[in-house]
Amino acid sequence: MSNKTLQAVSNLKGIGGETEKSLAEMGIATLHDLVMTFPYRHEDFRLKNIVETPHNERITVEGRVESEPSVLFLGKNKSRMQFHLLVGPHLIKAVFFNQAYLKNKITSGQTITVTGKWDRGRQAISVTHYSPGPKTDNVDFEPMYSLKGNLNQKKFRKFMHQALQEVGDDLEEFLPLNIREIYRLLPVKEALEGVHFPKDADHVKQARRRFVYEELLLFQLKMQAIKKVRKEQNRGISIAYDINKLKDMIGTLPYELTAAQKRVVNEICKDLREPHRMNRLLQGDVGSGKTVVAAIGLYAVITAGFQGALMAPTEILAEQHAASLHDWLAPLGIRMALLTGSTKTKARRILLEQLANGEVDLLIGTHALIQPDVEFKQLGLVITDEQHRFGVEQRRVLRDKGMSPDVLFMTATPIPRTLAITAFGEMDVSIIDEMPAGRKEIETHWVKKELFNQTINRMVMELQAGKQAYVICPLIEESEKLDVQNAVDVYEQLTTIFHQQFKVGLMHGRLHSTEKDEVMRAFSEGHVQVLVSTTVVEVGVNVPNATFMVIYDAERFGLAQLHQLRGRVGRGSDQSYCILLADPKSEEGKERMMSMVETNDGFKLAEKDLELRGPGDFFGRKQSGVPEFKMADLVHDYRALETARQDAEKYIASREFWTSDETKCLRTYLEQSGALDGDRID
Ligand code: ADP
Ligand code: MG
Repeated sequence: MSNKTLQAVSNLKGIGGETEKSLAEMGIATLHDLVMTFPYRHEDFRLKNIVETPHNERITVEGRVESEPSVLFLGKNKSRMQFHLLVGPHLIKAVFFNQAYLKNKITSGQTITVTGKWDRGRQAISVTHYSPGPKTDNVDFEPMYSLKGNLNQKKFRKFMHQALQEVGDDLEEFLPLNIREIYRLLPVKEALEGVHFPKDADHVKQARRRFVYEELLLFQLKMQAIKKVRKEQNRGISIAYDINKLKDMIGTLPYELTAAQKRVVNEICKDLREPHRMNRLLQGDVGSGKTVVAAIGLYAVITAGFQGALMAPTEILAEQHAASLHDWLAPLGIRMALLTGSTKTKARRILLEQLANGEVDLLIGTHALIQPDVEFKQLGLVITDEQHRFGVEQRRVLRDKGMSPDVLFMTATPIPRTLAITAFGEMDVSIIDEMPAGRKEIETHWVKKELFNQTINRMVMELQAGKQAYVICPLIEESEKLDVQNAVDVYEQLTTIFHQQFKVGLMHGRLHSTEKDEVMRAFSEGHVQVLVSTTVVEVGVNVPNATFMVIYDAERFGLAQLHQLRGRVGRGSDQSYCILLADPKSEEGKERMMSMVETNDGFKLAEKDLELRGPGDFFGRKQSGVPEFKMADLVHDYRALETARQDAEKYIASREFWTSDETKCLRTYLEQSGALDGDRID
């Protein structure tokens, strides 16, 4: 970057003291920072036809004042001013809030220009921008920035103008000419002018198009570069598993693998053989059979003389995995161990010794696996189940336990492709997109909350038939405490209703993890028939006898989460039911309920969820991993994303990219971003 662009903003006229501080708060220190600060939207000041403008939309009109403004004072600094305005042949009302000082400036007969929200019913504009006279100036679009401190839009635009004048010709062009030509993208300076001082609608659009592409290309280049470097480093272990033993093991399974399971097993085995470190995400809808795939991968590394580890987010899930894998692998002579928070000190000590000596082939457990004193003799493969529940840091610690074990992350949250290639862009992805044959589709019904009693009656029928049920409690955004209160209320209500007839259990996030496991165990062993729970139950548990689920306030949940919750039933061969108790107010809420009723396909729901709620909410409040883009929007710009990804792939694979002058900027960017540093082995 040239020195000029790195000049401090305080070199501009009018910036110092308070203003400089406000800019700093916005993360702006240099002229480059300033010009790269993008508005959150552009205000449209083009004249519009009121007949064609929908209710509540912003509009700019020019008209003649037809009545003297009348002002109503509404108390402290509050006022409402109103007059009639003739716009073409239409007489409408112009309403001004808290701008009574304009009264003396506006007189009957004058022509003025106003902008504001159009109230179609009242035929009135609630004015936010006023200028005397007809619309003369040629500003059609004004950028609106999120500002801090003492800044206002007008002042900020003045600084922006100066900055662009100053450094417009010194800005570095990241996009090679041929790319700009193919996609007809504006050069950086013109694009920045289009963002900050657009000539017209098309200028705004073209400017945006350029920066969306640039942003996505840079990001994808980074992801692809990380992948390439990891593969070239060959710092992993090549695992020479015994294919015949593997085939025999698959032959002993109680069912045939689905085509999708076979495909991902092959993808995983190929990675195991390669000398690079596997870094793979395995996605498969709830119930698609990921556990057995994990077992096959783990068995493969064991046949090559390595150890394997499987980490689950809860104790109960770890126990369930241990039981399944024991069925499949113990007959083959595999020595397995379970390590959780409740493993007793003495047993733990012995286990750790055996693990370090290589007397244990396969370790299954919870976070207890990543404590510092857990050492393997020769760890070859680490698998984490329901990976979105683990933090990035925990994943790293586990990975670093072996020299360079291969790593497989499994998740039951179907991730739309656009998000997968961004949030997990540096990983390889395998997808199980097929369900084992013979599953009955879960029947989902959306009912009004007032039908709660009927729902309970229906539930009783299932319970009387020896089945079990989940009742998921009302969700209160942002307040775990209230969620718990709700769960307790529902629990008490149901306990009263069922008397001694059925046993009700209670599960929520405030319980100690040993208490949670106890409740879960009682439920999975059938001592408890009805489990009242907050969303903590959403992850992985397998109680095939549970066939009925009620979800309170279903409209408050996102689709991905509803689908995860629903996945707790329908795990056996019996027909299962999911009842959504919901009175959604918004169209979007209704649409979500309809989607749940219509499909059991997690990927379809995930795409819908992304479309309805946007990428920020997709992984829930606490999850991130999805980068924040300044311009690009993963819902609407998915085509650009796909193009950028393909271009990035081609670039990274081509010799020219690494040598040509045209792409020097991009290479410098990659170097500075650390993408070329490769895996660190600490
Ligand atoms: P998830 O992908 O949600 O972790 P699981 O691994 O728990 O799913 O599998 C769900 C159920 O499907 C288990 O009872 C499992 O034994 C069964 N299953 C897995 N693969 C197959 C298959 N190919 N054919 C029939 N049943 C299968
Ligand atoms: Mg699972």
